[in-house]
Amino acid sequence: SSGILAGKRGLVMGVANNRSIAWGIAKAAHDAGAELAFTFQGEALEKRVRPLAEGLGAFVAGHCDVTDEATIDAVFAAIGDKWGSLDFIVHCIAFSDKDELTGRYVDTTAGNFSKSLLISCYSFTAVAQRAEKLMTNGGSMLTLTYYGAEKWMPHYNVMGVAKAALEASVRYMAADLGEKNIRVNAISAGPIKTLAASGIGDFRYILKWNEYNAPLRRTVTIEEVGETAAFLLSPMGRGITGEILHVDAGYHVVGMKNPAAPDI
Ligand code: NAD
Repeated sequence: SSGILAGKRGLVMGVANNRSIAWGIAKAAHDAGAELAFTFQGEALEKRVRPLAEGLGAFVAGHCDVTDEATIDAVFAAIGDKWGSLDFIVHCIAFSDKDELTGRYVDTTAGNFSKSLLISCYSFTAVAQRAEKLMTNGGSMLTLTYYGAEKWMPHYNVMGVAKAALEASVRYMAADLGEKNIRVNAISAGPIKTLAASGIGDFRYILKWNEYNAPLRRTVTIEEVGETAAFLLSPMGRGITGEILHVDAGYHVVGMKNPAAPDI
């Protein structure tokens, strides 16, 4: 391939189905010429991920539940054996108890706080530790975040706190890994109807609100997030690290409801 990711090998974590943001990124990276590896979380998702991986000629590196570090090690061992080195990783993983993605943040329990931060923030660091060892020729690491890290959003609660920590970890890891020419960035995606998003209260309302109030007067697709990801992962993005890039139809610049927007 002559695409911007030709000759690059990358691991994509977080494909649950063909609506996943990770799938949009995988498709775009594949179209740009990358060779891909996937992980899946558990047997139920394996049934969905394997056919998707096959469709892109990708390597299935195995089961990975980021709360079990042995499964992260196993996946990186498999990639080390298969490829010997790695050029990029894409981390599209987040979790919080659905019961706490509604109501008030202040009611968050210690147990769910720890679990949400472990899965939604620390896991990117845990994966970066393993990936660093395989990125002998420089590399690019990418995670997914949301505007709820920067501003209060209804129902996002502990996930907003986890995303704020994730965005800070992008900056710290960018500084730590820069001397090895490993870049670390995040895409802050606008709301998209995925499996994870279905756990968030009033999600349809949030989609409509974005559609009426974003500068582009619409929401974004996994294909749009995917193509921006391919750019960031590729040498075209080689001057960019520590960045939180918004792919949200411009919503993050808006300070007030559009007076012309219809009622929702
Ligand atoms: P999704 O449900 O398709 O993907 C979420 C993935 O997280 C799943 O593949 C799931 O297996 C994985 N995951 C959860 N817990 C895990 C664990 N313990 N170990 C390993 N994997 C685990 O939903 P998505 O919306 O594509 O989410 C991908 C990323 O995008 C998340 O970080 C999410 O917060 C972020 N994001 C989503 C939106 C949106 O509106 N959908 C907006 C901005 C950012």
